[in-house]
Parts: sequence; C-alpha cells; structure tokens
Amino acid sequence: VSQTLDALTRAVPPETILTDPAARAALATDESKIPGDCLAVVRPVTEAQVVAVLRASAEHGFSIVPRGAGTAATGAAVSRADQVVLDLSAMNRILEIDRRDLVAVVEPGVLTGALQAAVEEQGLFYPPDPASSAISTIGGNVATCAGGLRALKYGVTRDYVLGIRAALADGSVVDLGGRNLKSVVGYDLVRLLVGSEGTLAVFLRLVLRLIPRPAAFETVLASFETVEGGLLAADALLAAGLLPRALEYLDRDVLAVVAPALGEKLGDRVQSRLLVELDGSETAVREDAGRALEVLGKAGAIEARRARTAVERDELWLARRSVSKTVRTLAPAKKSEDLGVPRSRLAEAIAAIKAAGRAEGIRVLAYGHAGDANLHVNFLYDPASPQQRAGLERAIAAARKEALARGGTISGEHGVGLLKREAMRDEVGPRALDLMRGVKRAFDPDDRLNPGKALPPHETDGD
Ligand SMILES: Cc1cc2nc3c(=O)[nH]c(=O)nc-3n(C[C@H](O)[C@H](O)[C@H](O)COP(=O)(O)OP(=O)(O)OC[C@H]3O[C@@H](n4cnc5c(N)ncnc54)[C@H](O)[C@@H]3O)c2cc1C
Repeated sequence: VSQTLDALTRAVPPETILTDPAARAALATDESKIPGDCLAVVRPVTEAQVVAVLRASAEHGFSIVPRGAGTAATGAAVSRADQVVLDLSAMNRILEIDRRDLVAVVEPGVLTGALQAAVEEQGLFYPPDPASSAISTIGGNVATCAGGLRALKYGVTRDYVLGIRAALADGSVVDLGGRNLKSVVGYDLVRLLVGSEGTLAVFLRLVLRLIPRPAAFETVLASFETVEGGLLAADALLAAGLLPRALEYLDRDVLAVVAPALGEKLGDRVQSRLLVELDGSETAVREDAGRALEVLGKAGAIEARRARTAVERDELWLARRSVSKTVRTLAPAKKSEDLGVPRSRLAEAIAAIKAAGRAEGIRVLAYGHAGDANLHVNFLYDPASPQQRAGLERAIAAARKEALARGGTISGEHGVGLLKREAMRDEVGPRALDLMRGVKRAFDPDDRLNPGKALPPHETDGD
C-alpha cells in the first residue's frame, strides 16, 4: 500500500490524490451499486499527470480503474481494494467547437449535457443522448458506447467519435483517427477503443463529430387498443418513409404503473402507447407530424395528441421519463436488463420475456426504444426471499436466452462490466473471445487497465 502511495506521490501533485475513506468508498463503485474499495483516487487535471500515473502503475505493478462519473450500470467502474481509481472528471474542458470542420474537441471529463448545450448554442448538434446525459461524461460514454433515445435516426456514440488521443498502459500516448469524416487508413483502432470499458486505454482527448442542429421538433403521443398496437404503428411510420428521432413504446403493464403516479386515469381501452418525436426544418417537421398523425390513425390509434407547446411536450414525455423512478417503488428491489433484438422480433421478444418472468413468479416490466429495439426489462423481486432470488436469476437467464434466440444481444447500450461477463459467452463465440483477449494483450500485456472487466474470467474457459 505505502509503496503505491509513495509512487503516486512522486508521480503527481499531492492535491490530485484522494485517500480519505469517504472519497475512496464513493468513487470505488458505480450505478450497479456493487461495493468497491481502492487504495487511492487520483484526479488528474493534465494529460501529463495521467501519463505519470500510468508509468507509475507499469513500474510498481498496481492496476488502474479509469472513471468518468460512475454512472455505469454494469460495474465497469467498480474498483478493488488493491487498485487505484483514475478519476477523469476534472479534465472537463471543451477545447474547441469548429463550425466548419463540424467537430468538437473535448477532454474526457466533460459532462455530455454540457457539451450538447455548448454546441447547440452555436447552431450545432451532438445527437447521442443517453438518459444520463446530465450526469455522465463523454469519456464514459465513449468507453461504454452509450446509446440513448435517438439511435434509430442518428446512431449511437460510436457514430460520432472521429478521433481519440489515448494514453496506453505503458504510458505512451497515441493519436488515433482525426477530424476526417472519411478515413480508411489501417485498422480502425478508434472504433476498437469505443466500448472498451477502460480496459485498453485511457482517453485524454476526443474529437467528436457534430451536425447542424435541427431547427424544430414535434412530439406526438398515440394510444392503442392492443398491446402490439404501439409496435405495429412504429412499423407503419417507418414504412411510410418517416424517420422519427425517438420512438418510445410503453405497454399496459407499464402505463398502469405510471398513470397513478402522474394522477392520470388510464382508460380501459388503452393497452399500449407510442411516443413519437420528429425533427428537421420548421416546414418539414410540421408536415411530417401531420403525416405521422394520419399514419397512426390508420394504424388503429384510438387517440393521438400532438404537443403544441414546450409544456405540452414535457407532459407527453412525462410518462416515459417517470417509468424508471416509479418502477423502483413497486418492489423491494429491481434488476434491469437492456436487451436488444432485431426490430421485427420486438413484439414476440417482449411476450417471451414476460412469460419467462411469470414462469418464475417474478414480475417483469418491459419498455423501451421501439425504433432501435433496445428493451429495458425490469425484474421486480424481494431480495429477502431465497425463492425470489433464485427465480430472479433464472428469469434473467431465460430473458437473455429469448433475446439471443431471436438474433438479439444481451446488452444494447450498457455493456458488459462485471455483470455480464459470464453471460457474454452465449453471445460471443470462443474464437471471437480469443481474438478479444488477443486485443487486450496487445494493448495491455500486464493486465493493468481495469482488469477483470468486459471479458469473461479465464478459469472457466480452460485457458
Ligand atoms: C439515470 C441513468 C440513466 C442512464 N441512461 C443510459 C442510456 O440511456 N444509455 C446508455 O447507454 N447508458 C445509460 N446509463 C448508463 C451510463 O450513464 C453510461 O454507461 C455512461 O456512458 C457512463 O458514463 P460515466 O461518465 O458515468 O462513466 P463511468 O461509469 O465512470 O465509467 C464507465 C466505463 O468507462 C470507463 N471510462 C470512463 N472514463 C474513461 C476514460 N477517460 N478513458 C477510458 N475509459 C474510461 C470506465 O473505466 C468504465 O469502464 C444510464 C445511467 C443512469 C444512472
């Protein structure tokens, strides 16, 4: 312990090192709430300080957990008692917003919401929009390839990362990619680092793609008499040539939970709802919203409302925004999975996942992004009951299986972290896992960067 602390003290200024127990405990865990600990937290303010910590780690053999805001849902930012947390949140400058190159150059600790606001002020747009944008960092978003509500139209974080300056495990610094929208020289190491969960490199600087800000948007909420109605209507919108920036689906089970919390009396006829948000130029978006209402009507909507003001828009979004918070109050505990399936399999996947929960006596609420078919599945249970705990594990395993059986994925946006390491074997074959391990060895031969995350443990592999 003292050897590591001595090495850190020699490497970086004392004011960047936190060792008090409260800070260590707080910064050693993430949204997964898996308890963690650490030897110390280093909160660098310069690239040179990050490099110095990595060099000390290589020299003295301690390992490092890079950290943004600690909002990861998977344990990706949880550290162990023998590790050092490298907290990048103080490297939070927006270095450049270039309107002609359409890029932003930022340090990793910038909050995503702060970047969005800064570029929008200049008539530009950074589309990735995780629900955590107000509290998570760009570095964390890139390291997890964060998704969000706008993926159908705009893609996810990986589609906006053009360049990365990264510090490697040995303390060397590489500039990968750059400011070019098109670039095909060599292997795409930028994409490889996106979603690498702090296991391959520490991001020092990111070059992010921007686009012009859409001038206007319109929000429509439609209700349907069948559970599938909302999903079929989403198909109908796309078939009609509309490409909404958000398409959020809520079924009766979820609506029945949020309606009382919002003081709404949910009519018996409403079995599902679809929230649609369109953006573009003023005229295009007005026309598109009119068409969307028409299509939704033809698809069987019993009611479709278009927000006329910002307040009305917030009202339409309220049900969707309150789901996570309200669901939390329904049972002593909940676990969430963010499964993904091809769009065409969404309705059957939801039905199968709910059936899997019922078979185990576990209440399941599923809602999510009907556009990109990334489902948030909430399993409600009582941790005090051994039966419920066992049933929960079986229900989660069955739900993942149902997604995979339909060509889906066990994580659409949250990643692997600690929680999905075993389960990923069912999605990624042994040969592909070997390749991933080879990549890890190439970047970090001594396993010092976030060891034990993002890949299955070795033992059970037999290697
Ligand atoms: C309320 C809430 C809503 C959420 N909604 C969404 C959502 O809609 N979509 C979504 O995708 N996720 C969502 N998340 C999950 C989470 O916000 C994202 O995974 C986010 O990208 C994590 O960012 P962070 O700054 O908190 O990173 P952290 O949690 O600190 O770290 C996450 C990972 O990134 C690595 N890392 C962090 N910074 C660096 C760096 N500079 N260099 C290298 N590696 C680094 C860490 O080692 C870790 O592996 C939500 C979480 C919460 C709490």
